[in-house]
Amino acid sequence: MPSPNQQNLKKKNAEYSEKFNNGDLKLPPGRMTCMDARIDPAAAFGIDLGDAHVVRNAGGCAKDALRSIVISQQLLGTREIILVKHTGCGMLTFTNDDIRAVVKENLPPAASAELGTTDFLPFPEVEQAVRDDLAFLKQTTTIREDTVVSGWSTTSRRGL
Ligand code: ZN
Repeated sequence: MPSPNQQNLKKKNAEYSEKFNNGDLKLPPGRMTCMDARIDPAAAFGIDLGDAHVVRNAGGCAKDALRSIVISQQLLGTREIILVKHTGCGMLTFTNDDIRAVVKENLPPAASAELGTTDFLPFPEVEQAVRDDLAFLKQTTTIREDTVVSGWSTTSRRGL
């Protein structure tokens, strides 16, 4: 029996698919933002259908998004990366030790062993985290050298 969320997704996607006729839109630039459920990237950043690959993860972390960025650049032609972090991000509220303790408490021991020293990439300050991610994107050899990269935070409302 599908959960209520699964039933809603199936119903809404069927409605969306019925009306979808934009399969021929051009290849877009890449954008990264947090998976925070309160963020609607299309509305918040003026992204129309076909405008961007939006890579979302906890904290809008570049390292976490790298797999998708490489695919976006190498197979789909992306030449610009816009990284956006936001005010009130949940990533500001915990440390690696905190999340590891929660995992240890809630999951079987094998889970902690499997995660090992995984860095969950929490950060204590948004603007510095944007600067750190920009530095990572500019030094990694996995991003094309001609890529236009910018970082933004909703606290500053300006590029860093
Ligand atoms: Zn967030």
